[in-house]
Amino acid sequence: RPRVFSGIQPTADSFHLGNYLGAVRHWVALQDTHEAFYCVVDLHAITAGHDPAVLRQRTRVAAAQLLAVGIDPERSALFVQSQVPEHAQLAWVLGCITGFGEASRMTQFKDKSQKQGSERSSVGLFTYPILQAADILLYQADAVPVGEDQRQHLELSRDLAQRFNSLFGPTFTVPAPHIVKDTAKITDLQEPTAKMSKSSSSPAGIIDLLEDPARSAKKIRSAVTDTGREIVFDTETKPGVSNLLTIHSALSGRSIDDLVAAYAGRGYGDLKKELGEVVREFVTPIQERTRAYLDDPAQLDKLLAVGVEKARAVTVPTLRTAYERVGFLASA
Ligand code: ATP
Ligand code: MG
Repeated sequence: RPRVFSGIQPTADSFHLGNYLGAVRHWVALQDTHEAFYCVVDLHAITAGHDPAVLRQRTRVAAAQLLAVGIDPERSALFVQSQVPEHAQLAWVLGCITGFGEASRMTQFKDKSQKQGSERSSVGLFTYPILQAADILLYQADAVPVGEDQRQHLELSRDLAQRFNSLFGPTFTVPAPHIVKDTAKITDLQEPTAKMSKSSSSPAGIIDLLEDPARSAKKIRSAVTDTGREIVFDTETKPGVSNLLTIHSALSGRSIDDLVAAYAGRGYGDLKKELGEVVREFVTPIQERTRAYLDDPAQLDKLLAVGVEKARAVTVPTLRTAYERVGFLASA
């Protein structure tokens, strides 16, 4: 079976709908056809400043949410990145075949470092895409389900796999992005041309899976919509309304055309009100299941330890091969 790998950062108290619709729901579906490795990437989560106790809690909440939305720890490997040391080890090697200029062209670094002030942003934030390449290449992943914002990083992973293979001999599978266009970029409710983001959206711009659905409904009611009053799907001229339609369609399973027809002659208020209900129905069972997993942290940690074992069965031999190819002496 082909392999998939993907990761998500524990950088907030909850995932948001962008994470779910752009990435995680595809993780769930791909379990049927692929051997899957899914990771809470805590090493990535310390690149922009963090609190240790909060990180620990968010890491468990992230894992619990993944289980709650349908990641099956029997079929797939679900684990925490820092517990698999090969990620950091391979990242060093890949960093040494990455050009400084090449890394400097990553737009996510430019955006995130600009927000923090470039003097203050960390070297870890700069090398983040190299660690991400290591994450993926260690598993010889064929496909990587991510949102549109990760396309450039995926391209770097492919380049590094090819470069390593041509410098040192065929070692890594060159991974393909798995980006499902419809929901690859869910936008911020307050700023409908920017992506919904855990770390840079304002609370009013994000719908969190774990927040009170009444709060989500309120945010949806105050979402920035567009001039005019007609409900049509056009991401250029009506990014706000189109985003709401995209979310509705993905969660309710109704096609955009069907929704547009159903809302003909009605106003934005109706769409917003009904979307609030759709979100409530969707998140309520997820919240219940997440809470159940969090009620038993020892059991949760045990599940994650099983994931680490499955992961290391792959990463240890991959890293060994890579080290040999590079010319490091074999360890005893
Ligand atoms: P941060 O702001 O801390 O980077 P994030 O919201 O971007 O957080 P990540 O953990 O970096 O979340 O990304 C997890 C997955 O969610 C990735 O595959 C990413 O492409 C996807 N994703 C993130 N935001 C969106 C979005 N607005 N629409 C679709 N997919 C998204
Ligand atoms: Mg991100």
